[in-house]
Amino acid sequence: MSTGANHVREERTAAAPEIINKVTSNNNSTSSSLQPNGHEPRTVYDLLFTLSPDVDTGLEIVEHDVIHPYFAQVDQVFPLACPASPPHYQKDPVKTIETCTLGTLNMLRLAQKANARFMLVSTSEIYGDPLEHPQKETYWGNCNPIGPRACYDEGKRLAETLTYAFATARSLQVRVVRPFNTFGPRMNPNDGRVVSNFITQALRGDDLTIYGEGEQTRSFQYVPDLVDGFVAVMEGDCAEPINLGNPEEYTVRELAEMVRRSVNEKVRIVNKDANVDDPQKRKPDISRAKERVGWQPRHSFKYGLEKTVEFF
Ligand code: UDP
Repeated sequence: MSTGANHVREERTAAAPEIINKVTSNNNSTSSSLQPNGHEPRTVYDLLFTLSPDVDTGLEIVEHDVIHPYFAQVDQVFPLACPASPPHYQKDPVKTIETCTLGTLNMLRLAQKANARFMLVSTSEIYGDPLEHPQKETYWGNCNPIGPRACYDEGKRLAETLTYAFATARSLQVRVVRPFNTFGPRMNPNDGRVVSNFITQALRGDDLTIYGEGEQTRSFQYVPDLVDGFVAVMEGDCAEPINLGNPEEYTVRELAEMVRRSVNEKVRIVNKDANVDDPQKRKPDISRAKERVGWQPRHSFKYGLEKTVEFF
């Protein structure tokens, strides 16, 4: 298993953004692909759960924690700060909340001062354990405010509230996207989410660990599709929240079987305890993305899986 020239740096305590003349992000596979139309990207990182960026990404890297104010003369701000993997965001829930709230506030203030357009990168997690399926942007969600996932889902819900408060009270130009489960090359092998866990387990010859019965579903999108969606929404004219995801839906058991077949048929699939408040189903309704910004995913899950296995 290779991680290329990367190495994992978890020694820093901040939870990160990336600002690109344009941006903020903590997600290496996403941010390194995000270099939209003729802008010079600048990335602000704290390298919390992130692989250190390759020298050839073309990104200008600034190390900074967004929970503290930051200013730069930029045109667009994409705040992706915050670990998105459940074991990572649950490791320090207070830090996760600070990143979602103070971090978003600082990035909103930056956008306002710079007269920049702001695109909040929210999450499908704001729908909680959804009672509506598939999830449309009009659904308000079903979240446990005091459960182990609350630091992230309630944190991002407040981030959306802050964003629209700046739009209405301060006339900031805003966009909000809600990415669904995303995977791809350059993911941290220790990310802890299901696609990278199953691939790394299969490559090592370890059991694939299903949490619970494996009947819960997710819909996985390949990272370049998400990046195209970010650019389409930022450049488009829809200020309402937009789901970005691939509606191809699988149970976690189906996913385990697919990875087993394509990576290593000798490994076993085993069941572990279910996670508390684990959403039982998740699938985006992407009608709004199609109609309002002309976006839909271009890659199948299978294609993305092959590319990700090659990377690992
Ligand atoms: N999951 C699993 N085994 C793993 C990691 C995750 O069965 O090694 C399950 C997890 O319980 C959830 C789904 O896979 O039902 C997706 O989990 P992930 O952490 O990737 O993202 P989430 O959508 O929960 O944020």
